[in-house]
Amino acid sequence: MKNILLIHTGGTISMLENKETGEVTTAEEHPLTAISDHLHAYANVDEIIEFDLPSPQITPQHMLKLAKKIEQVISMYDGIVVTHGTDTLEETAYFLDLVLETEKPIILTGAMRSSNEIGSDALYNLISSLRVSVEDEASRKGVLVVMNDEIHTAKHVTKTSTSNIATFQSPQYGPIGIITKDAILFHHTILSRHTNKIHNISKNVFLLKSYAGMDARLLEAIYQAKADGIVIEGLGQGNLPKETLETLKKIMDDHIPVILTSRCYQGTVQPTYSYDGGGKHLKEMGVILANSLTGPKARIKLLIELENTTNGEILRQSFAKN
Ligand code: ASP
Repeated sequence: MKNILLIHTGGTISMLENKETGEVTTAEEHPLTAISDHLHAYANVDEIIEFDLPSPQITPQHMLKLAKKIEQVISMYDGIVVTHGTDTLEETAYFLDLVLETEKPIILTGAMRSSNEIGSDALYNLISSLRVSVEDEASRKGVLVVMNDEIHTAKHVTKTSTSNIATFQSPQYGPIGIITKDAILFHHTILSRHTNKIHNISKNVFLLKSYAGMDARLLEAIYQAKADGIVIEGLGQGNLPKETLETLKKIMDDHIPVILTSRCYQGTVQPTYSYDGGGKHLKEMGVILANSLTGPKARIKLLIELENTTNGEILRQSFAKN
C-alpha cells in the first residue's frame, strides 16, 4: 500500500451543520478524523491539521506555508491529499502548482455539503482523492483538483456554482480524467508545466473587474495604495473603456506591471482590436496579456513571479506560456 499524507486546511469539508439552526461551522473535533478508518482501505494514511480556516480566510501567506510543509514532508510519502474550502480552493491549487517541483501526486479536494448534511460529498470526495493519489498515472500532472467524480488541473479549474456539488469545472478544456466505481481514467495529459522557487510572498497585487462605463477612479485608488502589480479582468477578448487609459499609462510609466485577463469565463485574451482601449492598443501600451488564465489565477501567478523579477519582458514571456 502507498503512503499518503492527508493535510486538512478547513472549509465545509471540515465543518458540521448545526441541526437546529442550519448553520455550517467549524466543529470542536475535526469531523473527518472521526471517519478516517474508512481511508485505510486505500492507503496508509497519516493526517495533519495544518489550518482550520474557512477558505475566504486563506491568504497567499497560508498558501506559502502549505507549500513549505509539503516540500518538507514529500520525500516520506507517495502523494499528498489536501482538504480545503471550496471558495478559494482554485487559488491555493494553482499556487501550489506554480511553486512545487515534485512529480508526485498532489490532490486538492473539498465539499459543498458538510459531513453531517444529507447528501454530503465530504467523505466521497476525500475517498475519490485518495484513490487518485495512489494511481501511478496521477504523477507528473502538476496539482490536481478532485471533486464530484472528476479530475481537473489546478490551472484550468474554477468554482462555477455557489452551491451545486458539480461546481468545479474547467470551462475551457474540461476535466482531464474521471473516477468510476472501480477505475481512475485519465483521458488528457499535461504538455508542459513551469515552476518557480520562492521563499516569500511580499508583494501587493490587486485584482480589478472591468464594466461598461468604467472610469479611472478605482485604478487611481489602486495606484495610490502602492500596488506592486495589477490584474484587470477586461471586457471580451481583452478590451477596456478608453476613460481608463490615462491612469493606466501613468501606472505603467511607474513600472507597475498590468496583467490583462477577460471577465468572460471562457476563451483567451487576444490583441484583436486597435481602437483606444482595444486589446491590441493595450498590448502596444505595455499591458501583458494572460491568455486564458482567470483573474484570480493571474493574480496568484503575478504574486509569485514578482518575488523573482519585475522585468516586463520576463513577465510577458511567462504569461505567454499559459
Ligand atoms: N465557504 C466555504 C469555504 O470555502 C465553502 C466550502 O468550503 O465549500 O470555506
